[in-house]
Amino acid sequence: MFYPEKRDGYSRIGKIKTENLVLNTPTLLEFNGKPELEVDFGRAPYALRFISETLYERLKPAEKEISVLTGLNVLSPRQILQAFEEKRSTKPLYVVAAATTSNVALLFYLGADIVDNILAIAKAYSGIYFVGDMEMDVFKFKKFPCSCQFCKGQSLSELSRDEIYEITAGHNTEMLKLEVEKCRYLIEREELRNYVEAKVKLHPEMTSLLRLADSFGDKSYFPRFKKSRCYFSAVESANRFEVSYFLNRALECYRPVTDVVLLLPCTARKPYLTSRTHRYLRSRVRINVNEIIISSPLVVPRELELTYPAINYDTPVTGHWSEDEIAFVASWLRKFVEKGGFGKVVAHVEGGYRRVVEKALENLQIEVVYTVEDDILGERSIERLKEEVAGLKRFDLYERIFDHMLRHQFGVEYRNCRYSGRYPEIEMLRGRERVARIDVRYGMLDIYERIARILIDKNIYTVKIADFDFTNTIFAAGVIEADENIRPNDVVVFANNSILGVGIAAMSGREMMKSEKGIAVRVRRKYPV
Ligand SMILES: [Zn+2]
Repeated sequence: MFYPEKRDGYSRIGKIKTENLVLNTPTLLEFNGKPELEVDFGRAPYALRFISETLYERLKPAEKEISVLTGLNVLSPRQILQAFEEKRSTKPLYVVAAATTSNVALLFYLGADIVDNILAIAKAYSGIYFVGDMEMDVFKFKKFPCSCQFCKGQSLSELSRDEIYEITAGHNTEMLKLEVEKCRYLIEREELRNYVEAKVKLHPEMTSLLRLADSFGDKSYFPRFKKSRCYFSAVESANRFEVSYFLNRALECYRPVTDVVLLLPCTARKPYLTSRTHRYLRSRVRINVNEIIISSPLVVPRELELTYPAINYDTPVTGHWSEDEIAFVASWLRKFVEKGGFGKVVAHVEGGYRRVVEKALENLQIEVVYTVEDDILGERSIERLKEEVAGLKRFDLYERIFDHMLRHQFGVEYRNCRYSGRYPEIEMLRGRERVARIDVRYGMLDIYERIARILIDKNIYTVKIADFDFTNTIFAAGVIEADENIRPNDVVVFANNSILGVGIAAMSGREMMKSEKGIAVRVRRKYPV
């Protein structure tokens, strides 16, 4: 039986339990001796499906407890993605004879739960020795360059060819094991994507597979909020689910209140408002207008700077903007400015940022003022900025932040509250009662009873559970009904006849309905009905 415990996109953490063993997934099956799991491989590889579906149906694996994907190496990138998409289910997915140290992270990213050392052994017997991500000819070595239990730094000249192959097979398996451990750690920390983006650069075909994957298949498994930092180091970074989700959703939810909008450059420190630059500007100029911060590949209204990934990302800063970057960011900035219906744009930007603004506002009938004269924090620039945004009426930024985050995360409105706390750890209160607070770690809102009841009434982000006792975890077996829009890491509410509460989803809403086993919701707090 498979017990999923955590999901991050297509990758997940779980446990396979049989009568006599427990395997923590993702895992490596070893075929040096007898493998730990009994698997039916079927009589034909998955590739046959593309030649004759009827024949494949007859010869395919039985897949009682485990989904099996064989013959991946002969498929095109598109076929590989189609295969993963079809095989994805509540059962663990075993990708057979495909893993090497360089591609295994990508296999897990695409949804494999189990891999094996078959290819690593096959390669060993043709003289290929794994050194980190590289595959080297073992006979180029005088001595094994490794001191694992197989290599022990031995001289090759003292060994027979068969012995060398056998040692290489053991060594390759060890290297693969390390890589699998690394991946499990990364999935746990929600950091696998950063690693995969770096890893695929070693092989163009892996890069194309990742690029295709970003625009392929069911994305309901992908979280909107994560605890990991988003690195925008590759071209592929802008295609991440969380980036396109954030931009589209932010635009949908954006409701500025002033006629003037101030455009500012991003800062290395996040949230931007805690940076030296933004704090200094605000200490010198009373900014009572809507602000939009320009970054790459993000455009962030100030109201949403505490929302993931805006709150926690890193982008390499060189001062150089590529034409693609300018075009991408400018197109989004234009959408936000149009949506805001502003009468005037005050752009306190220079360099590449200014080029973004110029491109974004091309042919728009809107007044634009550039206020940087010497340097962004220079005296003359500050004076110019004061002139342009002075005398405007005050608005409560914290109120605007909660208003936007509630809409962004749950699609609900809740006002007439007071706000307190030290930025960014701020909270929303009604009288003395806490209504919501910023969860800085995930870049989302954490909610309390009042909002929980609103969500239950609207039947959104809601999980209906059976009447049973539970403490910290709600298992999929206890779920009666779950909102299909729930994604992993979403804040959800749960209820039965005696209790309601707030928790964090460990799987998607659809999976909660389909799965018989595994963790559905991690409980944060409970209230009597
Ligand atoms: Zn070794």
